[in-house]
Amino acid sequence: MTASRRPLIAGNWKMNGKTADGVALASGVAEKMKAAGDVSFDLLVCPPFTLVSRVGDAIKGSGVMLGGQDCHTAPSGAHTGDTSAEMLADLGCGCEIVGHSERRTNHKESDELVLAKAEAAHANGLVAIICIGETESQRDAGKTLDVNGSQVAGSVPAGSTAKNTVVAYEPVWAIGTGRTPTNDEVQEVHAFIRAELVKKVGADEAGAMRILYGGSMKPGNAKELIALEDVDGGLIGGASLKADDFWAIAQASV
Ligand code: PEP
Repeated sequence: MTASRRPLIAGNWKMNGKTADGVALASGVAEKMKAAGDVSFDLLVCPPFTLVSRVGDAIKGSGVMLGGQDCHTAPSGAHTGDTSAEMLADLGCGCEIVGHSERRTNHKESDELVLAKAEAAHANGLVAIICIGETESQRDAGKTLDVNGSQVAGSVPAGSTAKNTVVAYEPVWAIGTGRTPTNDEVQEVHAFIRAELVKKVGADEAGAMRILYGGSMKPGNAKELIALEDVDGGLIGGASLKADDFWAIAQASV
């Protein structure tokens, strides 16, 4: 964490939540934010598409931001089951996750497609949260930096800015497993990602761009992770499903 970059604490609810529990979770987070008043971090919730509208109503006026988890590259058309960035913006989203490892794996999303989704987000005024990260076998093969470097090169649109883009480093083997890299390893990869971003977007934008850590971040480890120089917040899965835990992580950035 560096004073010049405002921390972003982002919750990825994934495919979790029906109406009642989703609204209750969103309301719980919104109440804490309202009670806190002025805060020094940005707080974002990314519910499943079915809940975006209801969650948007529940957090209105609280300062909590709303985001989507994915989008199609086209604004509209014959794409059964898909959602466009334009639709997410229309529902009040300000951000959108693209290239999460679960989409890269389960839906065979390539860097090229992730880049096109980020461009669609930008074209609709959304901040693209672009996820990258190595698998366990890539890590074991000593390819962590190579993989993350090539994902930055392939997934981040040229001309991205610190205002419209956030990068989330999520080692795939750490997601939902309770395992995390050491603090030194996290900082090494984040610093490397920032150096790769310099090549892509220039030193000024790369220096101001937020790079989140994701992968089993929880109240017990958030403070030490977010304290690392090039870690500017977190993308949180499991722990974002409990308002108290999510809020405790946000507090760890203060
Ligand atoms: C994620 O899926 O983006 C994530 C980081 O999950 P978890 O926090 O559960 O590891």
